Amino acid sequence: VANIDPLLQRNRAFADTGGYEGATIFPKDAVCVITCLDPRVDPAVFLQLGLGDAVVIRNAGGRVTPEVLTDLAYIGYLSTNMLGVDGPLFEVAVIHHNQCGTSFLADDEFRRGFARSSGLDGAALADEAVTDPARTDAIDVERLRSAPILSDRLTVSGHVYDVTTGLVTTVIPTAPLRG
Ligand SMILES: [Zn+2]
Repeated sequence: VANIDPLLQRNRAFADTGGYEGATIFPKDAVCVITCLDPRVDPAVFLQLGLGDAVVIRNAGGRVTPEVLTDLAYIGYLSTNMLGVDGPLFEVAVIHHNQCGTSFLADDEFRRGFARSSGLDGAALADEAVTDPARTDAIDVERLRSAPILSDRLTVSGHVYDVTTGLVTTVIPTAPLRG
């Protein structure tokens, strides 16, 4: 028995309900959530997203990496030039969380061990650590603002998800990408 098997069974039940019908490629809520891959931090659950409601990009920490910027630029280009979306595009909501597994990267010995075993750059790994989610939210919203690759028609915001209460707190209110 493969671990994926029960999930595939649930998929068949999902397909039978027709729950996939009506979803569109442009997100209904016009939001792109960037958040952590931690299984406790699934925005489909804590933001109660339905299928097609939002774009979700997840990685370790929910950090704004060069890959994330490329994805956002592409979604913006696709929305404008293929889907014909006029005016404001979508809001990019960065949601970091407490008790993040990346926080262990702030420990020098732990980080050096991973850098050694992976061959990755220790300084870059240190930058990935989310120890204070409000602080890294601010860093990553600034990364969005200073990325010339992104469309001026985006808005941005920053939030913290608390894994012990299930609550999201806004720390950077929604504003245009560039003032
Ligand atoms: Zn995390």
